Amino acid sequence: MFIISVASALLIVKDFYSIKIQSSVRAYINGQAEYSKGRNNAAVNLINYLQTENLVYIAEFKKAIAIPLGDNIAGNNLLVNGDDSKTKAGFLAGKNHPADVSDMIWFYKTFSSFAFAQKAIKLWGAAAPHVNRLSTIGDMVQQLQQQGKLTPIAKEQLIEEIDGISVLSSEWESAFSRVLDDTASDIKIVLQTVNILLILLIMSISFLFVMKIINSLNKSESELKSTVIMLNDTNRELENFSYVASHDLKEPLRMVTNFLGLIEKKYNNQLDETGKTYIHFAVDGASRMKKLIDDLLEYSRTSINKITYETVDLNEVIARLRTDFQDVLDEPGAGLFAEAMPQIVANKLQMQQVLQNLVANAIKYRSKAAPQVHINASATADHWVFAVRDNGLGIEAEYFKTIFVIFQRLKTNKIQSGTGIGLALCKKIAERHGGEIWVESEPGKGSTFFFTVSKQL
Ligand code: ADP
Repeated sequence: MFIISVASALLIVKDFYSIKIQSSVRAYINGQAEYSKGRNNAAVNLINYLQTENLVYIAEFKKAIAIPLGDNIAGNNLLVNGDDSKTKAGFLAGKNHPADVSDMIWFYKTFSSFAFAQKAIKLWGAAAPHVNRLSTIGDMVQQLQQQGKLTPIAKEQLIEEIDGISVLSSEWESAFSRVLDDTASDIKIVLQTVNILLILLIMSISFLFVMKIINSLNKSESELKSTVIMLNDTNRELENFSYVASHDLKEPLRMVTNFLGLIEKKYNNQLDETGKTYIHFAVDGASRMKKLIDDLLEYSRTSINKITYETVDLNEVIARLRTDFQDVLDEPGAGLFAEAMPQIVANKLQMQQVLQNLVANAIKYRSKAAPQVHINASATADHWVFAVRDNGLGIEAEYFKTIFVIFQRLKTNKIQSGTGIGLALCKKIAERHGGEIWVESEPGKGSTFFFTVSKQL
C-alpha cells in the first residue's frame, strides 16, 4: 500500500515537472524565434538606413537589436550565475513572455550541466558576438553620419559586413533552434518512458497486492474449512459421548429408583414424616433425572442416527396427537385444529416428534384460557412450511433465539417442569430435513412456531 502511494505521488510529481519542463522548452523555442526576428529586423533596418539615411530606420534598428541584446544579457548573467532580477530584465527585453521567465531561469539552472544544454549554451554564446557587433555597427553608423564621414564606400563596406553577420547568425540560430527541437523531443521520450515505468510499477505492485489478498483469502478459506471439519468432528464426538453417557446412566438410575421404591414400601411404617418427605424428594429427583436422560438420549439419537425418508401422511400424525393429548383437549373450550395436511417426504418418527413437542409445549405453557392449538401447512417453491399456533403465555422477543439452544428455558415459565431439550430437538429435526425453525410471539397473546421441510429430500 505504502509503495503504491509513493509511486502515485511520484506520478503526480513527474506530471508537475513534465509540464514545467515542456513549457520551459517551449518558452526557449519562442524566445529563439523572437531573437532571430529581432536580429534580422535590426540588420534590415540598418541596411535601409545606410541606403536612405532616413532616421526612422535607425529608430526601428534600435528597437529590433534590443531583443537579441536582452537575451544576450540574460544568457551572460546565467553563465556567471548572476542576480536573477538582471536575468529576468534581459529575458523581458528579449520579448519573452513574463509568465515564462521564471521557468526559463529554473530550466537553465537545473539542466545547464546536461549535454544537450551545454550544446545549446555553446551555440548561444557563439551567436552573441555577432549581435554585439551589429549593435556596434549601428552606433558607429550614427557617429559617422553625425561627423559627415559616411561615404558611399564606407556604406558599401558596412552593408557587406552586415550581410556577412546575417548569414553567419542565421546559421548559428538554426543550429540553436535544431538543438532546442532535439531537446524537446528527447525530453518528451524521457518523460514518456518515466511515465510508462511508473505506471508499470504501480500495476505490478497492485498485482502483487491483489495476489497477496487472494492468497490470504484462500488461506483463511482453507483454515475455515478445517475449523468447520474440526468442529463437526468435535460435535459428533460430543453427541456420541452424550449418547453413551446417557445410555450408561440409565442403569444406575434405574437401581436408585428401584431401591428408593423398595425403601418406601418396606420401611414406610418406620419412617417419620420428615423421612417420608425426603424419600419423596429423592423419588421425584430420580424421575426428573430419568426424564432428562431420556430426552438427552432422544436428542443424541436424532443427531447421530442415520436418517431415512419416506412418504408421510401428516393427517395420521395429527390423528395420533389428538389421541395423545385427548385429556387436555376434552377440556371445555380447548381444541386441536388442523386443516387438511399434505403428504410429504420426511422421516415419520421425527415428524411425530417435532409436532408432538410443539403441541405439548403449546399445552404446557398455556395461559388461564383453555388451550387452543392450530396447525396449518403451506408451501413455497422448495419448502413445506408448518405453523403451530397457540393461545398460551407467549414469549418475549429476547428469547426467540435462545429457546432453541439445548437446556435453555425461559426464566418466566420455569414453574412448568421441563428439561430444555424439546425445542433443541425440533431444531435438529428441521435441520436434518433441510429446513429451519423459528418463533413469532407476543407475551400474553400466544406463540406461533414455524418449521420448514425441504421438498428435495
Ligand atoms: P422445556 O419445555 O423442556 O423447558 P423446550 O426446549 O421445549 O424445553 O422449550 C424451551 C423453553 O421455551 C421452555 O422452557 C419455555 O419457557 C419456552 N416455550 C416453549 N414453547 C413455548 C410455548 N408454546 N409458549 C410459551 N413458551 C414456550
